[in-house]
Amino acid sequence: MLRRRRKFLEEGYNCALCQDGTEETIEHLFISCSSSNCRWFVLGIFWNDAGNIFEKLSTAKQAFPFAFFMEVVMIGAWCIWKERNSLIFNGKAPKLSTWKNDFKLEVCSHLCRIKTSLHDSISS
Ligand SMILES: [Zn+2]
Repeated sequence: MLRRRRKFLEEGYNCALCQDGTEETIEHLFISCSSSNCRWFVLGIFWNDAGNIFEKLSTAKQAFPFAFFMEVVMIGAWCIWKERNSLIFNGKAPKLSTWKNDFKLEVCSHLCRIKTSLHDSISS
């Protein structure tokens, strides 16, 4: 495991998920990364290429058809972060199906914080 962590550290600050040589910034990892984009696509969230991160959030929120956009973004980003760390520290390859399952588990664990009236639309 130490060798794996060292490998990522020696490669600098590039994104571990897409491995296309792009520096891992917050915006890259959570918005423009091709690996993350697949996850957002599953959730029906599409990021605009233009603007800063706040403008991108605003534009994506306007296009999102449900009232719980930020909840989905926060849980989705959390799952991307955990997937990234699992790759770096445990050598577990990112997989969309695993990410989806993790996302569903996280949503279920947060249902108590979300209005009961939204539970059906969240579950779907
Ligand atoms: Zn990336």
